[in-house]
Amino acid sequence: MPLAIVATPIGNLEDISLRALNTLKAADTVLCEDTRVTQKLLSHYEIKKPLLSYHQHSNLTKINQIIELLRQGKQLALVSDAGTPGISDPGGELVHQILAELPETQIEAIPGACAAIAALSISGMPTDKFLFLGFPPHKKGRQTFLKKIASSEYPVVVYESKHRIIKFLEELEATMKPEEIMVGRELTKMYECAYRGDLKNIITAIKSDANAQKGEFVVIIKPKKK
Ligand code: SAM
Repeated sequence: MPLAIVATPIGNLEDISLRALNTLKAADTVLCEDTRVTQKLLSHYEIKKPLLSYHQHSNLTKINQIIELLRQGKQLALVSDAGTPGISDPGGELVHQILAELPETQIEAIPGACAAIAALSISGMPTDKFLFLGFPPHKKGRQTFLKKIASSEYPVVVYESKHRIIKFLEELEATMKPEEIMVGRELTKMYECAYRGDLKNIITAIKSDANAQKGEFVVIIKPKKK
């Protein structure tokens, strides 16, 4: 197992597979984003492992350190702060760099939670085809991003943070009138909620809910058929 890509919970610590736990127990080192987040998960399962943090601003030295561990035959497990590493988080770039430097690396997927898939599963929208667009760009390309949603044939999945959710929904509302929309907040967590129905009403509901602007969001938009 030189490098295992291990999915971890998106909130509820029980959403982790036996195989993920066994893989973490077998690893020599766990590569993670925020060591505090991963330490909390490992402590919950009484797993003690050296942690090595990897994030989007990691420099070449850190990447070389990881590659050196793989060269030494160490078993590494990559996790992210939540969900499946590589899905809209820095894990994808790390795997890319490892494959560029050490193409023979055996990379194994240990699948599990993913916020996009969890949200799709409760959306009630057709999910045989969907478009995953991840986070909206903050500035450049934002209008194009909104237009891409409006013109999609398939339901579109978007990730957004608590700081930007209202801005995104207001801009979306100014661009289109979805046939259906669901805003999933804090899925699997204590204040889990799925807002459905009219977009204007959803914006009002989120604005007036004290808990709503804390938290993490997945938005699923089904555009009207042309
Ligand atoms: N790799 C993760 C996955 O598999 O879903 C996604 C990582 S991305 C950096 C973090 C974003 O995922 C959050 O800003 C939010 O949009 C979404 N997300 C993560 N956990 C969530 C949850 N419990 N409820 C709703 N959205 C969540």
